[in-house]
Parts: sequence; structure tokens; C-alpha cells
Amino acid sequence: MNVTHSLKVLLSNSRLPPKEARILLAHILEQHYQLPRSALMSRDDMVLSEAAQNAWQDLEARRMQGEPIAYVLGKKGFHNIELRVAPGVLIPRPETELLVDIALAEISRLSQIQDQSGPIQVLDLGTGSGAIALAIASAAPEVVGMATDQSEDALSIAQENAQLLGLSNRVKFAKGNWYEALDAQMRFDVIVSNPPYIAHLDPHLIEGDLRFEPSSALTDFASGLTCLEAIISRADPYLKLGGLIAVEHGFDQSEGIVQLMGMAGLVDIQVHLDLAGHQRAASGRKSRSDPS
Ligand code: GLN
Repeated sequence: MNVTHSLKVLLSNSRLPPKEARILLAHILEQHYQLPRSALMSRDDMVLSEAAQNAWQDLEARRMQGEPIAYVLGKKGFHNIELRVAPGVLIPRPETELLVDIALAEISRLSQIQDQSGPIQVLDLGTGSGAIALAIASAAPEVVGMATDQSEDALSIAQENAQLLGLSNRVKFAKGNWYEALDAQMRFDVIVSNPPYIAHLDPHLIEGDLRFEPSSALTDFASGLTCLEAIISRADPYLKLGGLIAVEHGFDQSEGIVQLMGMAGLVDIQVHLDLAGHQRAASGRKSRSDPS
């Protein structure tokens, strides 16, 4: 039998940075005892069961190996929802909440237009954990969403998240590469995507959390722009007149993306800054007047 220790001793003996040790131990308290995080302080003399202590040692060891906290916990907060995440999907990033907010602003504008009939149609390309589509649908009850991914693993996690959030009736999923997953007659008010945009040999790919994430969710294995180009250049047939497309991109890709949007005939092109002040997203609209 292992020696069991009090919470206080487990924390002070941990080789992890104190903040991380507290996050993981709070997770154990929640899972094994349904206790809130504050128990780390208020009940610091509490001695864990052997099972709980083994679970703690397992989480601690995984984090010591560098595994991202979100994978170790199996969850990540994003916008106003919590998502299940696992090694088959990109961990949702705070900067991606910008795309959700751009979409929600457009949705609220559309909702106020008198002649808007029926639900607002939103498409999320390369949905991963489902983060963007589900955060939008969760915040905007007037939305129905379609979310695609070419990864079976990602789709099954995204579908599970839709279920856990009670959104399966409003967000549907389809497997395929960008627009290939869709029926040709589908039209959307808003298209959003956070595609892989890191260039092939970018050193960040072999650092930190990114080492553990699926590389197909991070890089296009080329310049970084190929997926963004495919998404922007092929959007037109799937957008309603006046419809909005918004994409996330790398901090140094803004100029290229604005150019791609112009070449695709989009109008009202805008650059959006993330909370760190980086040009992180771009949006454009399909013209309201039908050119044909
Ligand atoms: N924003 C992510 C990062 O820099 C990259 C995600 C992506 O390629 N879409 O880690």
C-alpha cells in the first residue's frame, strides 16, 4: 500500500509549478469527491484515498512529460462553454473566441432585420472539437449550424460535445475536406473557419503544447496559406447574398488574407485584432447585388 498524504503535502511535494499542481489536484477533488476548488485551501489536511492519490500521480506524471493541461484534464473552457478535448483535436485557443464574437455580431445584426425569415445558417469549416460552431449556437438560439471536419476522431469528439451541451438538434456535422463535405445547394449567412495556418517548418510546431496536438490541425504542410486560400476562394457558391465569411490566420498573414478576399470578389473586407493586439482574423462579404 502507498503512503497517502494530505492535500497540503501533495502540493508542496509536487515537482510541477504550483499553479499547475493546484489545477490538477482540484480536478481530482472534483472527480473523486465532488468538492470545489476551494477545498484545496479549506480542507488542506484532507488525506486522499489511495485511488485518488494514484489518479493524482498519473495526472502529475503526464503533465511532467509536457502533455497539455487540457488533454490531461480532458476539457477546456472556450467562450461561454466547456468542451471535451482529447489528443485527436486542437485545443481551443482564447484568440479564437474573436471569430465567435465576429459571427455573433453579424447574427445579432441579422436578427434585427425584419425580413429575416427562418433560422440563421452558420457553417464552421474544420471544426475540431466543435468549439466555434457550438459556442455560436450556444450563445445564439436563432442559429442552426453545420460543422465539418475531415477527421473522424475530431467529428466524434465534436458530436459528443454537441450532445453534452444539448445542441445536437441545432448543429449538424459532416465529414470531408472543407466544402466537399456539403451538399451543393447549401447556403449560409455566416461561414467561419480556424484552419491550419502554421507554415510547414515553423519551429513552434515542435514546442510546448503544439507537440502533442494533431499536426494536420496546425499546419498545411506548406506555406501556411493553402487551406485559407481554399476556404476563401471557394466560399462564394455557399454564401447567401450579403453573407459574411470570417477566418482566423497567423499574426503575419493579414495582408495575404485581405488580398485573397479581394481576389475572391468579397467586399467590406475587415481586419480584426485579438486581445494581444495581433491581426488575427479577417472578414469579408459576398456582394448584395447578384452580378449575373
Ligand atoms: N493559433 C494556433 C497556434 O498558434 C494555430 C491554430 C491554427 O493553425 N489554426 O497555436
